[in-house]
Amino acid sequence: MQNSKTVLEAHNLTKTFGDFQALNNVSLDIEAGEVVCIMGPSGSGKSTLLRCLNLLERPEKGAIWVDNELIGYTPKHGKLIPLGSKKLASQRTAMGMVFQRFNLFTNRTVVENVMEGPVQVLKRDKKASYQRAIDLLSKVGLEDQAKKYPSALSGGQQQRVAIARALSMDPKLMLFDEPTSALDPELVGEVLKVMKNLARSGMTMVVVTHEINFAREVSDRIVFMEDGEKQLEMPTSEAMNSDHPRFKKFLDAVL
Ligand code: ADP
Ligand code: MG
Repeated sequence: MQNSKTVLEAHNLTKTFGDFQALNNVSLDIEAGEVVCIMGPSGSGKSTLLRCLNLLERPEKGAIWVDNELIGYTPKHGKLIPLGSKKLASQRTAMGMVFQRFNLFTNRTVVENVMEGPVQVLKRDKKASYQRAIDLLSKVGLEDQAKKYPSALSGGQQQRVAIARALSMDPKLMLFDEPTSALDPELVGEVLKVMKNLARSGMTMVVVTHEINFAREVSDRIVFMEDGEKQLEMPTSEAMNSDHPRFKKFLDAVL
């Protein structure tokens, strides 16, 4: 891509839990508008990578820049000091995160879930935030569900609300961690469709998924992980035809 702009740059991320190395020296660059799919067997470090990218987990080593700004630290007397949790939370709003489990507030209506961040965190006007929430809900096809509580919705609908909620913070990029793997099979398609539309609208996305068809149709690049390491990183069309033995084996297993 020419004149492309790097939205996220992660260098040499390393994360251990006890003496287990969940992430070993992983670097990743994401350009504006790019959709990158991360694949790999269970336990390969995909969730840890996403959680490190938005600093839900602190990597022991490595650094992350969002829009060329180093996140998680502030310079002080020529040194880099880790940010406190409040400042960190504020930087984290640049990245919308959608989890396998939707994590909606069960005691708030759908529209309240989508307004919560803008009103409470961004201190935006309530009325304007309500209107924006309704717009976002219509983007995910749920404006008619706005006044319901999450428990009245299907899993697929709840996940679409979670996507609208993440978008309400105007993120610079969206991180998805297996957003459809907790759903009944018949509900997967509606969530993938919303994600496809989002990708087409130009959103920058990092998606951990085993949905090969989604990856093939929508993603620009595939990253394959195993044992906490990046084993393969290629444009999607190349990756699908690659003869990389471990990735091939993985593809055969999930297809
Ligand atoms: P994936 O998402 O690819 O399935 P994860 O990133 O969740 O893999 O986990 C990678 C490895 O790190 C797993 O073996 C998991 O048990 C371990 N792990 C992840 N989070 C923690 C944690 N908070 N404490 C201890 N071990 C963890
Ligand atoms: Mg995971």
